[in-house]
Amino acid sequence: MTFQIFPPLEILETLAAGPGPGNTDARVLKAFASAGVADHMQGDVLRGMIECKHMLRKIWGTQNAYTFAVAGTGWSALDTMFSAVMPGDTVVAFTNGTFSGIDALTLRIKAATPEEHAANPLDPQAASVTVVEVPHGQPVTAELVEASLARHKPKWAFMAHWETGSGRVNDLSGFSDACQRHGAMGLIDAVSSLGVDEFSIDDYPGVAGWASCPQKGLCCLPLTYAPVSFTKAYIETLKSTGAYTYVHNPIFEARHWGIVDGQDVEKGTYHRTHSGYAVAAFHESLRLTLREGLTKRSMSYRTHEKVLRDAVTEMGCEVTSDMPSLIVLNLPPELADREMELVQNCRARGFGIWPTLSEPVQVRIGILNQLNREAVSRIVRLFADAIRELGGEVDHDAIEALLESRYGTSIAA
Ligand SMILES: *Cc1c(COP(=O)(O)O)cnc(C)c1O
Repeated sequence: MTFQIFPPLEILETLAAGPGPGNTDARVLKAFASAGVADHMQGDVLRGMIECKHMLRKIWGTQNAYTFAVAGTGWSALDTMFSAVMPGDTVVAFTNGTFSGIDALTLRIKAATPEEHAANPLDPQAASVTVVEVPHGQPVTAELVEASLARHKPKWAFMAHWETGSGRVNDLSGFSDACQRHGAMGLIDAVSSLGVDEFSIDDYPGVAGWASCPQKGLCCLPLTYAPVSFTKAYIETLKSTGAYTYVHNPIFEARHWGIVDGQDVEKGTYHRTHSGYAVAAFHESLRLTLREGLTKRSMSYRTHEKVLRDAVTEMGCEVTSDMPSLIVLNLPPELADREMELVQNCRARGFGIWPTLSEPVQVRIGILNQLNREAVSRIVRLFADAIRELGGEVDHDAIEALLESRYGTSIAA
């Protein structure tokens, strides 16, 4: 057989209306594509990283010196955050969906002893990790965290802020308070909330480590930087134990962002190769976030989520989520069990909605960076078409009347 070079890859333009990635802003793509060729120690690249660090602290409302970003996606940031968890460490992890479930697996991998790894290498059952499973569709509550931490008194506690698998907002204040009361260091998966919600890290002193991603609330997919932030207490622990990683050790990584011994220094030093294109894109997405402001943006998410929620409810769907950037729903009873078919029909047409990735099967529709009348109306109409296609009933006039009444005639955007 002879090998032939493939033709250039063309990727179709679709409507990314899922839990993430969101539609990357054209200005971010422009920054990516127009950055000059430069190496990772060139002055503008290093300055850009320092500026990103300062913007990130502002957006995330924190004085934590160790606030920077990790090349990659959400799991890269999460791996960095979990790097301080050592074999045998006691952990209580709360799960209520796909992502916190994978986080709990990561924690079991980190905390497992060599014997526990050998016994079950891909799914180690670390005796020191307690996983508290909350059923899909329900939130992690302050009461549950309080009771579990009081009982186990772990070194680390973990929760997702917003569980994107089931679309639930978990109780961050309750989690932080319980961590403080019981002397646990809290770790938060904030992958889907940063850039969507308005919250400040420093209001949650029980949380020692935070991890997020570039491509959801920050709308910066061209594979860029996943934000992380750590308190002094986290860094002190890491200093005393070390970590089984070079690249994802927060103390090592922070050096390239100009953070050494808890202090900002003028210039970063080499940790790994960084891309000037990625730095430029990330820098632009942070600027856009600050210019728009999280107060305005988070209100806008709430407004548009409500329109989408009410429209699909009008179509007979049942919404079970409470995340402002995403709705998770059950189809009308007559279409029950046809969620996969509906999602596949939509995706085949370039309307990128998602099923849930773990049981039960539900439909997920997201509005990341779709914060205007036109975009939300388009999503509503495409979804109505998909329901009709399966033989469901949709009252076209009622849906159009709902959109009209919410958005009014004068508001074009
Ligand atoms: C998307 C998501 C992840 C995984 O992030 P990647 O960017 O795909 O690596 C983890 N946790 C939560 C809560 C998420 O929403």
